[in-house]
Amino acid sequence: MGAGWTLQELIDAGMSVTAGCLDCNRHQKLDLPALQDRLDADAPAMEWDLRPKMKCAVCGGRRVTLTYSPNTSPKDHRKSK
Ligand SMILES: [Zn+2]
Repeated sequence: MGAGWTLQELIDAGMSVTAGCLDCNRHQKLDLPALQDRLDADAPAMEWDLRPKMKCAVCGGRRVTLTYSPNTSPKDHRKSK
């Protein structure tokens, strides 16, 4: 893996990405498969890649932060590594 993740890699790894709006403080989990549809499976998907494309669905603000978190379920924790 290179300097960043692609959309496909995020999906494969079960990562979830949450967008937070700095203007209205609303948080929304990104629909990665839908994004992949709009962009490209190989599109780079790090925060600095996605952020310019993001817009808050509520207030239309463009000051959006992205948080990446592993979608871990406690059951798989031991055997996955
Ligand atoms: Zn907003």
